[in-house]
Amino acid sequence: MVYISGEEMTNYASKLIVKSWIEPYFDTGKWEEFDLSCINRDKTDDQVLHDAVSAGSKIGAIFKEPTITPTKEQVEEFGLSRPLGSPNGAMRKGWNGITISRDTIHIEGVELGFKQPVLFERHAVGGEYGAGWKTVGRGKLLTTFHPEKGDPLLVDSRDLDNDHNVAVVYHNPLDNVTDLAHHFFQRCLEQEVVPYVVTKKTVFKWQEGFWEIHKSVFDEHYKEKFASKGLLSKTGGELQHLISDAATMQIIRWTGGNFGMSAHNYDGDMLTDEVAQVHRSPGFITSNLIGKRDDGVMIKEFEASHGTVTDLWHAHLRGEETSLNPLGLVEAMIGAMQHGAKLELEAGGPEENYEKVMTWTTTLRKAMHNTFRYGQGTRDLSGPDGFTTEDFVKKVAWRLER
Ligand code: NAD
Repeated sequence: MVYISGEEMTNYASKLIVKSWIEPYFDTGKWEEFDLSCINRDKTDDQVLHDAVSAGSKIGAIFKEPTITPTKEQVEEFGLSRPLGSPNGAMRKGWNGITISRDTIHIEGVELGFKQPVLFERHAVGGEYGAGWKTVGRGKLLTTFHPEKGDPLLVDSRDLDNDHNVAVVYHNPLDNVTDLAHHFFQRCLEQEVVPYVVTKKTVFKWQEGFWEIHKSVFDEHYKEKFASKGLLSKTGGELQHLISDAATMQIIRWTGGNFGMSAHNYDGDMLTDEVAQVHRSPGFITSNLIGKRDDGVMIKEFEASHGTVTDLWHAHLRGEETSLNPLGLVEAMIGAMQHGAKLELEAGGPEENYEKVMTWTTTLRKAMHNTFRYGQGTRDLSGPDGFTTEDFVKKVAWRLER
């Protein structure tokens, strides 16, 4: 698999985890490793990012630690020669990103925010993230589309009568929404949860296409399968659309879980943060980027949903105790190892390698969960008496040895 390292607290914790939980049991010599710290990206003139993206396309199974997209202040702080773009954006583009799947992590016997799984799809491309914009004054604003062939099309024309405006242009690519919808419905069916498609299409009329594609994929391929499992009883036998502002309220109310949501890029960004909060900690949410290679092979990149946990890193540097919940990070490592093993098996690799990865990753998950279950979890779950980052790693390592 490809292993992408980042920085700060999650890099520190990942190093501890790989050293104590993985290396004693696995030969990681064939992992292709890329250091996407700001300093290394700057030093290599960002070649390392291009190399990581190519290796990810070739291998198809990627683990990524959280990384930093430096702010102006961080460019100065790290002594970088120039600003650096978002590595996540480059990966979404490079791997033809379809969706970022974010799911709640559950530990048997431990009550978190949602009792049962919540699955999420965040469209990986388009929307506000790729917007072009300018600050403008009074005048006329025209947005014109020039097709590769044919006549130009006026998309919008408006008179601006304020002295101070921000004009913004963005688009939503819809080509890969069919793949997104299949991925979403297959996952919901497998986990037996009720699917909802979330948009603000009542007001943002251009979002109708996202819903329509989901609806036609659902009606043609999935409706009967969901109905036969009794999963459409709450939604009148049909796929249900949910307005995004209503979704923000339901996420707080539906703490029983057992639902899935598929949303546009920005809505998905916001709503999955809300899911993370209801579910106790960003440490209890997965985040997997699903892309597609030109030959149809699915590229899967696995990461935690949170960032580099800067506040704990600064506390660590000050010599204070920290308590990082590594579940999201390790679920991502497990996901990448399992997907790598599956791809190797499909390419004719030995079955025993696949079996070994599956058995061992299941054991690792159990060792972590048991540690939480016995009240030896990190402080986001177990309160102020919970384990420090290092003690949690040691405790799980001890369980793995037995
Ligand atoms: P963050 O997710 O790192 O932290 C937000 C808050 O949640 C902090 O108080 C942190 O202590 C807590 N937290 C998060 N994960 C935790 C865990 N596993 N255990 C215990 N507590 C946890 O977000 P931030 O502080 O806004 O961002 C820090 C850096 O991470 C920024 O430089 C940002 O650009 C970067 N970032 C990277 C990614 C990515 O690479 N995918 C995603 C988000 C943010």
